[in-house]
Order: sequence, then structure tokens, then C-alpha cells
Amino acid sequence: MSQRSGNPISCDIAISGGGAVGLVSALAFAQAGFRVGLIAPVSPVADGRTVALLSASWDMLGELGLREALTPLATPMSTMRLVDDTGSLFRTPPVTFRAGEAGLEAFGWNIPLAALIAALDEAVDARPVIRRISGKTTMVSHAHEAVELQTDAGITVTAPVLVAAEGRISISRDTSGITAKNWTYPQVALTAMLSHPKRDHDDTSTEFHTRSGPCTLVPLAGRRSSLVWMVAETDAAHLNALSNDAFARAVERHVHSILGAFSVDGGRGHIPMAGLGVGQYAARRIMLVGESAHVFPPLGAQGLNLGLRDVAAAVEQVSRAHAEGDDLGADTVMAAYGAQRRTDVELRTLAVDGLNRSLLTRFLPLDFARGAGLLGLAHIGPLRRLVMRAGLAGGDARSGT
Ligand SMILES: Cc1cc2nc3c(=O)[nH]c(=O)nc-3n(C[C@H](O)[C@H](O)[C@H](O)COP(=O)(O)OP(=O)(O)OC[C@H]3O[C@@H](n4cnc5c(N)ncnc54)[C@H](O)[C@@H]3O)c2cc1C
Repeated sequence: MSQRSGNPISCDIAISGGGAVGLVSALAFAQAGFRVGLIAPVSPVADGRTVALLSASWDMLGELGLREALTPLATPMSTMRLVDDTGSLFRTPPVTFRAGEAGLEAFGWNIPLAALIAALDEAVDARPVIRRISGKTTMVSHAHEAVELQTDAGITVTAPVLVAAEGRISISRDTSGITAKNWTYPQVALTAMLSHPKRDHDDTSTEFHTRSGPCTLVPLAGRRSSLVWMVAETDAAHLNALSNDAFARAVERHVHSILGAFSVDGGRGHIPMAGLGVGQYAARRIMLVGESAHVFPPLGAQGLNLGLRDVAAAVEQVSRAHAEGDDLGADTVMAAYGAQRRTDVELRTLAVDGLNRSLLTRFLPLDFARGAGLLGLAHIGPLRRLVMRAGLAGGDARSGT
């Protein structure tokens, strides 16, 4: 590259991080008419993870021109089933939500994360207004009305706004002065792709609530499903060390053979559970999106969907400043973004954290409250529809509200 020190690349929006949220940020800002500089290392996605994109996220990606590329990779989730498998005194019957009740074709679409990222990478490469800079951001500083980034390849990028999409450990967030609160859970998420040749999943996602956390089977194409199994730290090493066949049998026992016998059909992953929250969502021309701003355990398919709503809100606020002829990175833009994102992020973090912790404890009043909640969902139609709409994340990813 010719942009070694002294000859910076200048753009409207610098984006640091090329995970799913960074790549969607690049596409969304480019579509809104901005010149984008994307600083992204090549990072393999190796943990056999799939992500369920709720319908608003799916629509957002469709509007970015990705529908054709993603449809063959994704499987619809038309039914969601919650099964209380805690053994609690207040255990309730399974609760089933059908997308048709919420007037939807599907709650969302499940897609292997590696395939999603490959499709996003391809779309980014096809947009001439996105300048991709391979490597990592190593330093961020503030110059006159701009942020200046240095990369490990010696390249300098300047822009009035920096979108930090670097995941949980974020050098740009640290530079912004925003402090993050980190915490851990005594759990590990085991992930795998499974095939179950004897039974169909019928496009149903099933979430078992157990004492070690949720265990979720999400439909994939054909007679295949992806697994996210939250286990106690103390059991993780043993389960992780099992051969694929022994692991498949352990999963089958754990989910009461609802899909018959399994075999492992794709990568297996092992992710220690952690949480992260921030007091502010943007400062000093730096906007936090995705896991740079929020991390919580994988319950109810919320993390990436929330990250995509961050992106929608960031584009909305910066576009508004542009339309009004204002500085794109002005403090008022940062404040408006923070105000738009705070409630959504904090409510989701609180809800996921609360449900997860309520499973881990054997405190009877909490069991009662969770059981009563599920019972209400099972029998009260309007309540169920309300929760479905809330679970579908504020309805419209594009408005970010
Ligand atoms: C088991 C599991 C299942 C999940 N299932 C779902 C689901 O069904 N639905 C859902 O919505 N969410 C789900 N999630 C959450 C979802 O996977 C994450 O929210 C999402 O992938 C985070 O994307 P991100 O781009 O913010 O962060 P990351 O994926 O962490 O990407 C950050 C990127 O930034 C790069 N980077 C880091 N530092 C720098 C730097 N200094 N310079 C440049 N680049 C840098 C990294 O290399 C990486 O490529 C799940 C999570 C887990 C653990």
C-alpha cells in the first residue's frame, strides 16, 4: 500500500472491525452515501456458531442488497418453543410461539456465522465506495475535527467519525474514554452443527431451560440443527473432550431425543460466557456498535440483532447531521446516538442476564416468578403476542428504536 505514514486515507466514516457488525456498518454507511474506510484483520470464525437473524434484521440486510446471497444459506424459524427443564417445583408445560400469530412468515432466519461473514465480505468488496484496509487498528488519536487511526501495516486513516466494531476488546472504545464494565458467568457455551436423519425439525427452534442455562436447537437446512448448549464451567472440559459421537449422544440425552439420534455435522465450539456493558455509547467522535458496546449470553437470539440496530441508529444520526450540514462527529450527534440506543441495549442486557441468572439459582421465589411468567405466556394470547413483538426487537431494525 502507498498510504504509509504521511499520506493518510481520508474518508467520511472509519470503521474498525470486520465482524458481522463492522461489515454491515460498512455496507449501510456506503448505501447512505458516505465514503467508508474499513479497517479489518482477516479473522477466522471457527466455532461452529450460527446466528438467528430476526425478521427486522433480515429486512435490513435485504435492503442492503443481500437477500439473494443470504436466502440459500438461511433457514426460517417459523415456530419457537420454550421448555422448562429445570426440575423446579413450579415447572410449566412447554410454551410454543408461532410466527403466524405475530403476522409473520418466520421469526427469523438461522445462518452459519462464517457463511454470513463470507457473504458480507463479498458484498463489501463489490462496493467501490468502501475502502478496505487489511490489518488492525493499533492507535487512535484526535486531530482537528477528525479521528486519526494507525494500523499495524503502518497506514493512517482519518475521518470525522469512527465506528468501533471491534468486539469485546476494543482499542477504539478505550481511546474514547468510555469505560466498560466486564463480568463473567460460570458457564461455557458449547456450539455444534448436528444432523438428525430420523426426524424433521419443522422449522422449529427449541430452547430448553436447564439448571446450567439454556440449551437451544435452531433449524438448519434439511434434517440439521445448530446447537448452543450452556453448561457449567466444571462440565465443559469433559464435554468438550468427548469424541464427536459421544458428544452427539450426550446432546441427544440432554434434549430428550426430541429430534432422534444426532451426529456432529460441522465445527464444534467452546465459548466462556461473559458480559459487558458501557455507561456511554458514543464520545469524542467514536460510536460503539455491536459487542464493543454490549455482550451477554446467547439467549433468545439477541446479540447480533441488537448490534444491527446499533448500526441503523448510527447511520440515521450521522445522515441527519449530514443533511443539516453539521459536523458528522459533533458531540450532539454522539449524544443523539447514545440516547437512541440506551433503552434498547440496557433492557435486553437486563432481561437476558436476569433470565440466565434465574436458571442458575435454586431460589424458590425466582423459580415461581419464572414459572408464572411462562404459564402466562402459555395461556394468555395477548401477553404472548406482546412478548413476541418485544422479543422481535422493537419491530424495525432500520429505525433502531
Ligand atoms: C454461541 C453464541 C450464539 C449466538 N447466537 C446468536 C443468535 O442466534 N442471534 C444473535 O443475534 N446473536 C447471537 N450471538 C451473538 C453474536 O454472535 C454477536 O453479537 C456478534 O457476532 C458480534 O459481532 P461483532 O461484529 O460486534 O463482534 P465480533 O464478532 O467480535 O467482531 C469484532 C471484529 O473486530 C476485529 N477487531 C478487534 N480488534 C480490532 C482492531 N484493533 N482493529 C481492527 N479490527 C479489530 C476482530 O478481529 C473481529 O473480526 C451468539 C453468540 C454466541 C457466543
